[in-house]
Amino acid sequence: MRETSAGPRVLLKRLREMMAEPLEPQERLDHIVREIAQNVVAEVCSLYILRADSILELYATEGLNPNAVHLAQLRLGQGLVGTIAASARPLNLVDAQNHPAFAYLPETGEEIYHSFLGVPVLRAGRVMGVLVVQNRTMRHYREDEMEALETVAMVIAEMIATGDLARLNRPGIELDLRRSVTMKALPFNEGIGLGHVILHEPRIVVTNLFNEDSERELERLDEALSSLRLSIDDMLSRRDVAFEGEHRAVLEAYRMFANDHGWARRLQEAIENGLTAEAAVEKVQSDMRARMLHMTDPYLRERMSDFDDLGNRLLRQLMGRGPDALAEVMPRDAILVARSMGAAELLDYPRERLRGLVLEEGAPTSHIVIVARALGVPTVGQAKGAVSMSENGDPIIVDGEEGQVHLRPQADIETAYAEKVRFRARRQRLYRELRNKPSVTKDGVPVELMMNAGLAVDLPQLAQSGAAGIGLFRTELQFMVASTFPRVEAQERLYREVLDAAGNRPVTFRTIDIGGDKVLPYFKGALHEENPALGWRAIRLTLDRPGLLRTQIRALLKAAGGRELKLMLPMVTEVEEIRQARAIIDREVRHLSRFAYLLPTSLKLGSMIEVPALLWQLDELMQAVDFVSVGSNDLFQFVTATDRGNTLISDRFDPLGVPFLRLLRQIAQAGQASHTPVTLCGELAGRPISAMALIGIGFRSISMAPAAIGPVKAMLCEVPLAELTELMDDALANHGAKADIRSELRQFAEKHDIPV
Ligand code: PEP
Ligand code: MG
Repeated sequence: MRETSAGPRVLLKRLREMMAEPLEPQERLDHIVREIAQNVVAEVCSLYILRADSILELYATEGLNPNAVHLAQLRLGQGLVGTIAASARPLNLVDAQNHPAFAYLPETGEEIYHSFLGVPVLRAGRVMGVLVVQNRTMRHYREDEMEALETVAMVIAEMIATGDLARLNRPGIELDLRRSVTMKALPFNEGIGLGHVILHEPRIVVTNLFNEDSERELERLDEALSSLRLSIDDMLSRRDVAFEGEHRAVLEAYRMFANDHGWARRLQEAIENGLTAEAAVEKVQSDMRARMLHMTDPYLRERMSDFDDLGNRLLRQLMGRGPDALAEVMPRDAILVARSMGAAELLDYPRERLRGLVLEEGAPTSHIVIVARALGVPTVGQAKGAVSMSENGDPIIVDGEEGQVHLRPQADIETAYAEKVRFRARRQRLYRELRNKPSVTKDGVPVELMMNAGLAVDLPQLAQSGAAGIGLFRTELQFMVASTFPRVEAQERLYREVLDAAGNRPVTFRTIDIGGDKVLPYFKGALHEENPALGWRAIRLTLDRPGLLRTQIRALLKAAGGRELKLMLPMVTEVEEIRQARAIIDREVRHLSRFAYLLPTSLKLGSMIEVPALLWQLDELMQAVDFVSVGSNDLFQFVTATDRGNTLISDRFDPLGVPFLRLLRQIAQAGQASHTPVTLCGELAGRPISAMALIGIGFRSISMAPAAIGPVKAMLCEVPLAELTELMDDALANHGAKADIRSELRQFAEKHDIPV
């Protein structure tokens, strides 16, 4: 053991005794600062704690004027103490008064002290206060003294976090830790979640801080590090990551860090200074996180986050925590807070207790977000700082509509949101009652309401939403949440599960629509595309890589043996592409029948209408297929030349404007004329007002997110279709290209009491 560690060990031993004594919080703090001063042979030891109003308040002192306790205050960034808090870094000064940041507080009487050592009180990388020692003489504090002070600071951070000091606050003044925070985030899935924080990869609360036997703790650390390294090697050697790719790169980085000697050394030092192995991990991680705050290089920050994850794994290893402990810690109204997480990890949480998801990262197309949406969990992303600001059990609100997170909300905000949630729940009850009613307009015309899906987790929604079937099954989602190409067996299994769940209800499977914004990290597609939305994607890609399409078709044919199979092709531009796809399908059918497989009883082939060029070949198109489905998301994007993912412009033009509605009506009419079933499966179908417009221009089948079926059906049941058709015909024929159809529809809805 290193010779210098005797001091901190004695100090920690005394602290442990003090923690066990039945002392009042102030007394305990007073004892602690006295003990520290004695231990490092300093005349002064003071503790400043950060309040919610960004003021550092003197909470205890040995050596400075005792009357200044709870009176002396510094702003964040002010003086040496404020500088330490703002930068989350220690300051070790021989002559403090000559430091440019020095600010003299007359009430403390500190003018006679020269040397100064201050360290931040950190928890999870977050500053909670500052601990300072001072001497009259110009002395230089040694490394091990700084280390001792940091270790004590960590113990104090735990005291603050457990709420021990709350009774010392003046009325109306909160510590920074309890401050209510509103974070701006990006809305990823609508809905509002009220509940309590559960940190994914929770910061395990280390309750056992002081070690009895550091040799034993060093052994425990060694064992945990070895199993951590082994588990990473194990993950790396698994077949599905034996690829180049992002996943592998992360694991490689983990392996590098896990073998990092600097890390192991810092952990050992903390143990030698008297901490348990768990507390050592917590301390080193916290120091790292605080340092990370100042890093601007996104690559390095990302790597540091990997490191952070690794620290968490090590902690769990040490505490023997497996995922099965989840059920105990998970509140009934859990809001999951994570930096980022894998799609599969989300599925480990019991859905019925999950009220929301807050991610520090994530994008609308990331796998975790796709799955969260499929599960119907209100979700926001890009909520910076969410993880380090939250503690397990904190009250929190996720607003997936406005893209906001309210952490530890104030009472009025909580009341307002609780009312919103009650209102939504009442509406949901109404929608459930509508579920078994026929899906017809007020004047008795049937309109088929279908749902969109893409993962097995969507399937329960089929019964819950009352959908007539699955109008669009986005098969690419299975590919997007996997880490390698799903094998043919896995594809077949999913398709079979979907058909089993659907029973007699029809299902339309769309062949994989990858490319554009739907990227597969393990698939090396085009090197770089200037305009990916107009690029090598969907049917273009699968016709060029027929192996991909053939495998999928085979899986679909087998899964649908003995039942109907409906297949749909995405991003078709010319009818010739349908012929080529049909040739591949026919070949697979011949192949399977040669081997006496049970084939589908009927096979219907359809095309998406997403590319405007198809509008000038509608007759030929309808001849070539059994049905069509309008992908209004892409069609609108291409017709108006507005990127659907660009928030600057995506709302600029109204899909309920005259040009787009005229065009959609033309498709509906072409379908009627050729007796080809037409449906629409873009977002437009899921909003009551636009669904009403679609019905008014002739659509009798639409497909939408499951959550939209209730509101759309509530609208449908109240619509007098004959009058609506008249209104739309008149508006599109006579009101000019700039007519405000949205307003006309709103007035119509108001007049007829239609909920839109
Ligand atoms: C569409 O483009 O409208 C559509 C339904 O397909 P996706 O949203 O999957 O591109
Ligand atoms: Mg599309």
